[in-house]
Amino acid sequence: MAEVMAQVVPQQTIKLKDCDPNFVKEVIKAGGKNAHICFQCGTCTAGCPTVYAMDYTPRQILRMVNLGMKDKVLQSGTIWLCASCYTCQSRCPRGVEITSLMGALKSLAIKEGVDVKNIKGPAFYNSFIDIAMSNGRMFEPMLFLKFAMKSEGSLTGAAKAMMKDAPFGMKLVMKGKMAFVPHKIKQSKQLKTIYENIKKMEGESE
Ligand code: SF4
Ligand code: SF4
Repeated sequence: MAEVMAQVVPQQTIKLKDCDPNFVKEVIKAGGKNAHICFQCGTCTAGCPTVYAMDYTPRQILRMVNLGMKDKVLQSGTIWLCASCYTCQSRCPRGVEITSLMGALKSLAIKEGVDVKNIKGPAFYNSFIDIAMSNGRMFEPMLFLKFAMKSEGSLTGAAKAMMKDAPFGMKLVMKGKMAFVPHKIKQSKQLKTIYENIKKMEGESE
């Protein structure tokens, strides 16, 4: 089987059979504008505030997207750790819309049903949307409860996670940084309608 060596991660061997040549086009269509003209300067990685926790740097993700390494990219924890701060996108000399690309990769990972059991990002995003859609604004204690239930997979696991972080939560409440009771916006129904329409439009564009 033919193999190519690429400096995605030093010494990593990439098998052609594992690459999807259409992946970059798919990513561009989903929102990653200009991904194909990345010239690997690394400016995005240099300014990324969450790169320390990522399994692949933003530059490496761009390389992998261009090489068609679809499975590895969509299974990567990096896409869920992007904080959407836009630092990379505002600095990229090639105009690659990296923040949008990270968002597009998240959507593709969910659409493709990628097994993300060990990655907590989807659990966080789903919990966030559930609460935002019912209240119109965030209620952190409920976010934490939902997130713990979804990410730990059992009541015992969720209870343990909550006990561990409870002292920090209490500090936030005492300092007035976190509400103890939820607040609902007046037009929460309209917000829900907007959200449902977006979901419908997404379905139609597939
Ligand atoms: S800053 Fe832009 S051109 Fe440079 S590596 Fe990142 S995406 Fe590629
Ligand atoms: S938008 Fe995401 S990838 Fe880009 S610098 Fe911010 S956290 Fe890093």
